[in-house]
Amino acid sequence: MNRVAATPRSAREGVPPSTPDPNGARPRNPSRVVLQPEKMRRVNRRALLSHLRALGTASRADLAKALGLSQPTAGKIVDELLASGVLEEVAAPSDSAASPPGASARLGRPGRLLRLDSRRPRFLVIRLGVRHTRLAAVPVGDRTEDHWTWERPTPASAREWGRELRRAAAIVRSQDLWGVLVSVPGVVDERDGRVLFSPNLHWTEKVELAALIRGIWDAPVLLVQEERALALGHHALEPALDDFLLVDFGDGVGGAVIVDGRPHANPLPVSGELGHTPVLGNPRRCGCGATGCLETLVSQPGLLASFATAQRRPSASWEALQDHVARRGVVPWLAEALDATGAVIAGAVNVLGLRHVVITGSLTELPAAVMEHLAAAIRRGALWGRFGEIVVQPAPRRRIAGLVTMGLDRLVLPLAGEDHLERTTVRRKTVRAVLRGAAANPANP
Ligand SMILES: [Zn+2]
Repeated sequence: MNRVAATPRSAREGVPPSTPDPNGARPRNPSRVVLQPEKMRRVNRRALLSHLRALGTASRADLAKALGLSQPTAGKIVDELLASGVLEEVAAPSDSAASPPGASARLGRPGRLLRLDSRRPRFLVIRLGVRHTRLAAVPVGDRTEDHWTWERPTPASAREWGRELRRAAAIVRSQDLWGVLVSVPGVVDERDGRVLFSPNLHWTEKVELAALIRGIWDAPVLLVQEERALALGHHALEPALDDFLLVDFGDGVGGAVIVDGRPHANPLPVSGELGHTPVLGNPRRCGCGATGCLETLVSQPGLLASFATAQRRPSASWEALQDHVARRGVVPWLAEALDATGAVIAGAVNVLGLRHVVITGSLTELPAAVMEHLAAAIRRGALWGRFGEIVVQPAPRRRIAGLVTMGLDRLVLPLAGEDHLERTTVRRKTVRAVLRGAAANPANP
């Protein structure tokens, strides 16, 4: 909220103040948002949701106090959110145990707590992964770790993928959806619902993914770059942590940055692509077309390739690698890969001015010595570590929480001009011009 200026002006709700003007000039003040009563209500609603997400449950009085609102104002927001099905009321456990039956029905609803609705499925969440596609229908208040109800291998074409989703649509309960939220790998234009470039899933570049999904489920579709979903999910469940870099290891390696509690906005729709930083001396070819990318060494397939080579076998299993590291520790080939990873992450931390790194995915499934080695490598390369503390924290993937947060923010309580996408949109023309220029002049890499 600290970027919001409370200037009562007549700009109309729903018209993003950051919309580029028709002459192509940059708006004069894209980060300034004109705040009017309706917008103020939306800001307050979001703040209330964010508090509830962090607390789990709270009373009306607690929420009013935490948000610095009067009780009637907070109460009105709560009533609206209850009516729309975003919130639900539950009995306070201690109260229902202590009071005589029937005593709590009067006196300003004592003992009633609020929480995000965790009964009715509102969003269909889909994870389009390099190897597997997973989905689930989830309520807004699903605070659990990721739990998917349907899973299939990701096919090699959009047509087959669409066919699989149609089969899923027949099985997964999905009436009255508020939206379909899709986590996708690669460089994603979230605004247009398109994948611009996907090193490990090239077919997604050639199809209007959002349109394909809308043809199956009649609901708004949001594509969210997968590491951004993970970072938003981590922030949703640990809201006290406002600034961090999340790096995820799996079929690829990627990151996302949260600054000031929000996704960091970059001029281009490229962010956190740590996995495609070259490691000197690494001869492996990467799905992006380059040679030597970090992810060819520390993605799950990369680690398994190195392990198989070291064992002089054609292939190796993840379980065998876990077992090997448990018995032998961080062996030299693994140490080298982790040192390279630490150096790349330290580079990002040095540029961004962050001191907290969250690690998710496959590296966290290996024995603790692996994370310790990686943390030491990051600290060695981070300037802040010379005189301050660099925190490296392993964490579970909270992709669903991130997708639902995004769904609520973008589809249920949209706030024009306030968020990352609007700020990126200001530069979309520039992105298009750059892409057009590259196509017209292939000599220019
Ligand atoms: Zn690459």
